[in-house]
Amino acid sequence: MSSGNSRKSTRSKPAYKKGTEKPDTKDPSSKPPAVPTDTIRIANELNHQTYFIGGVKVHFPFKPYPSQLGMMNHMIKALSQSKNTMIESPTGSGKSLALLCAALAWQRDFSEKNKKRLAMVRQIIRKYVVGGASVPFLPNSNKDKVDADIGKDDPDVLGSGDVKSDLIVKPEPGARKSGIENLFETVACMLPDASATNKDTSLDTKDSKKDTGSSHLDCNSGSDSDSDFISKKPVEQTRTSQDSQKTDSSKTAEQKDSKDSSIEYQLTFAYLKLSSTVNYIIQASEISIPAGLTEKDIDVLKDFKDNNYAQSTPRIYFGSRTHKQVSQLVEELRGKSAYRMQTAVLGSRAQTCTNYNALNSGAIDEECRYLVDENKCGPYRQYHRLSSHSRLRPGGNLEIWDIEDIVGLGKSIFACSYFAARDLAATADLVFCPYNYILDPGVREAAGIDLRDNIVILDEGHNVENAAREAGSIEITDQQLGILVSECQMLSRDGHLPSTHQFVGTFAEGLANWLQDGSDEYDYQDFDSLTAVWPKRGASVQNLFDRLLITQAFITRLDFVYSELEDFAKQQRADKEEFRVNELISFQRNGKGNQEEDNDDESSGGHRSKYNSLSPGCMRVIGGLLRVLKQMASPNEPFYRDYRIAKIRRKNTAAANKTSSNNKRKRTNVAVLSVPDHINILAFWAMNPGVIFSEISSLTRSVILTSGTLSPLNSYASELQMPFSSTLEANHVIDPSRFAAMSIEYGPSGTLLEAKYQTINMLDFQDDIGRALCSIAASCPDGMLVFAPSYSLLSKLFARWGTTGIFDTLDSFKRIYIEPQGGPKDEFETLLKSYREGLEKDRVPGKSLPQGSIMFAVYRGKVSEGIDFSDYFCRTVVNIGIPYPAFKDVKVTLKREYNDSRASLEFMHELATPDNNMLSGSLWYEIQAFRAINQALGRCLRHKNDWGAVIMLESRFSNAWNVCKLSKWIRNYMRSFRTFDDAMSELDVFYKTRIAEDEAAAAAASLSSSLDSTTAVNTPVPISEKIFKSEDPDTEKISDD
Ligand code: SF4
Repeated sequence: MSSGNSRKSTRSKPAYKKGTEKPDTKDPSSKPPAVPTDTIRIANELNHQTYFIGGVKVHFPFKPYPSQLGMMNHMIKALSQSKNTMIESPTGSGKSLALLCAALAWQRDFSEKNKKRLAMVRQIIRKYVVGGASVPFLPNSNKDKVDADIGKDDPDVLGSGDVKSDLIVKPEPGARKSGIENLFETVACMLPDASATNKDTSLDTKDSKKDTGSSHLDCNSGSDSDSDFISKKPVEQTRTSQDSQKTDSSKTAEQKDSKDSSIEYQLTFAYLKLSSTVNYIIQASEISIPAGLTEKDIDVLKDFKDNNYAQSTPRIYFGSRTHKQVSQLVEELRGKSAYRMQTAVLGSRAQTCTNYNALNSGAIDEECRYLVDENKCGPYRQYHRLSSHSRLRPGGNLEIWDIEDIVGLGKSIFACSYFAARDLAATADLVFCPYNYILDPGVREAAGIDLRDNIVILDEGHNVENAAREAGSIEITDQQLGILVSECQMLSRDGHLPSTHQFVGTFAEGLANWLQDGSDEYDYQDFDSLTAVWPKRGASVQNLFDRLLITQAFITRLDFVYSELEDFAKQQRADKEEFRVNELISFQRNGKGNQEEDNDDESSGGHRSKYNSLSPGCMRVIGGLLRVLKQMASPNEPFYRDYRIAKIRRKNTAAANKTSSNNKRKRTNVAVLSVPDHINILAFWAMNPGVIFSEISSLTRSVILTSGTLSPLNSYASELQMPFSSTLEANHVIDPSRFAAMSIEYGPSGTLLEAKYQTINMLDFQDDIGRALCSIAASCPDGMLVFAPSYSLLSKLFARWGTTGIFDTLDSFKRIYIEPQGGPKDEFETLLKSYREGLEKDRVPGKSLPQGSIMFAVYRGKVSEGIDFSDYFCRTVVNIGIPYPAFKDVKVTLKREYNDSRASLEFMHELATPDNNMLSGSLWYEIQAFRAINQALGRCLRHKNDWGAVIMLESRFSNAWNVCKLSKWIRNYMRSFRTFDDAMSELDVFYKTRIAEDEAAAAAASLSSSLDSTTAVNTPVPISEKIFKSEDPDTEKISDD
């Protein structure tokens, strides 16, 4: 029996939401794929090679670089051992492709091994039963009794594993099936089909051959009704004389049928009680090996038990920092790998909504929830049609799809891509999403991401420490609390759960009053805000909770109330749905509805008043508060000390804008809405990313964290407060001779190049930085990037250079571009386009100077992450200063203090372990700066044949302590120069050598192509070779399949 068949035959009908339409089965586009997709076939077609890495067969498009082999090996090992790992590999080293191929190869291998193991166990149990042994705990011999005996929540029923995925059956979109229906579907897959039965033991072979006409449990029959699981009675036939003569033989046959039925019944039960049966046989074998079995069989059962019985194949959640980076991953999978499976990409409503009016409403999330609740969105009613579309399923031409693909298809069939993507993600083998979807518990739940026993890969993971702390934090304004109070009052007044809404409303009102009360002493002040923070000297968090009447009993009650409100909202939606259905029926019968339709079209502007449960925004406020309160309310909670509570009073910039516009409006008598001068904010700031990662770590099978800039790795692991069994720092694929890494202590005029707070205002420093850049720009071909710690430093430099003529000198060597601070995304895109186009035009032979462009940008800015400046788009990255986070920022100060106190506490109590040694505040602070530098340095040198220079105009890099915090590929080759002239002499030689090499290579390529074109006249290249040959020159095999 092929598992593919079993899945097909046992897949239950899709669950459709009430009020939604079933897929249009007449639509030819929604038919199942005609040709099943096959990774091996595609790998052969694409001429991919197969490698055995860590015992797993991996298809790869070309001979992997050693760093790629190392990454794949490392990853497969971690996945096999269910461990977390951290991999740093420089940008351009083929990291994404290696990770995708290794993860998918391992997933495939896991699934196949699991299937084989399950099939062997099945055979052993069959041998055990037909050998005459009884199955333990067997109930009465009828199916109804089995239904009764095996409760739907029986944990043993699926063999101690919720056997989902391709082993058994995948849950239908949006619905977790349970009960006897699911169990019997499960068993249908686990039981042998007719052909498999024929190949069973000798006794079995004989019987089953006779029995095929009344096969009970044939998964390949294509039927998934329960009748498949009940022995079909032999057709009654009128006895003839001939029959009479066969009475004896018939009796024998009936006895055999009866025996077969009994065996099949026992097998049904044994497979349902898989783990119990396996345990029973193992225990029985300790006295003596049961009849029909061998010691080898018992070993197989023991191995099955040790491997946690029949496991589901883990789903892979692959997260990257932004949607753009997610798209690059999808492209990598689609364009370069041979792996094909069901995929999904999760995006926001703003990206995927196919309802034009909702999209342009200005508040898409709220509008969508309203339209869905009110059944007023046409595309929503069609989303199942999109999620079951054959083009998006394995074998379809969009089987690996990106957001623009599903949105395009959704628009063409008027179906919602947002809900279709979620539907597809519920059953996908590989789900792509930005990593905040995985980190943020609220977003995770809303997106339907289930991490249990699955795999999480976080690419571009250098920011996850910050992202996790943000995901674990919450900020609530007094305006949000005001809305919550008024909604609670309205619902309570209208008789909807009055006491519950009063409880929530009173609590919210108390918080809002406290926020607006200015009697607390503020601890921090900057130009637009005042902040008070707890715990503080003389006032612990407990003191604050006592003031706000937040007790353990209160939190327990709030937890209960939140569940009650969720249930109430669900019930309200269900009631509305029922009402709509009744109205429809009544309309069809009588030509009119039971009740007059409310005049609630959107033009009335009053439709929001039809909510009779709390709005989603208010539910998010309560849910977020509850989550943090539960984590920090008691000293027994693991994160009791890991939050800081802040009360912030901030100037309302909207009020200033309003004032200026109000001045104009006064003349036109337009009613002026009151806008408060200040916003009061209640913040719960998570200081420890472990708040998020401890849960993720406990839920998942493995977490793989990767980036080009995780260094220093050990400290990063301790920052995340998550156990990583191993770390890998891969080398760059570029030959060291193709890049120059240098630090320079003194500028051309002998000024110490140290961009500290005290020195950046000195004119000598500013001038020498300018002169140094002019010299480098004159020597460096093509593109050049310059990173500075802040926009304010850049402004100072430009102002000075404008008066000294340095700016003009620089301009004579290169076109100058400056990264805009803030502003619309389009503005930056246009600037970037212009930068690139200028460099492309420079390639035109005979073009006169200036040759090249220079882009000034800041660390952690738009240019420093996620943009590829390969080849001539960037031949040099220059770094000015060390970009430490803003020293006076309240959150930075609190984080430093927290780390110091936590580190000393751990030291005092000897709590520190290799996985749990908190960095000191100052070390954490330093590492933030060096990670930003590493990120900026990774903009150039993007592939094996690239070349370039990285130059630190900063004397502090003559200190080895600072160099060791850089990524491995730089730190090992960093050279320190005391004088600028010495450094420039080296740099000149480097540029000239590389340019000469490029020219020689171009001349050789030109000669070769002219020879090729002559040869091609006589020797046509086969089309398959043109299409499928890898572009990489080193395509020789390491080891064949
Ligand atoms: S259901 Fe889909 S199409 Fe309709 S408003 Fe929401 S996101 Fe848009």
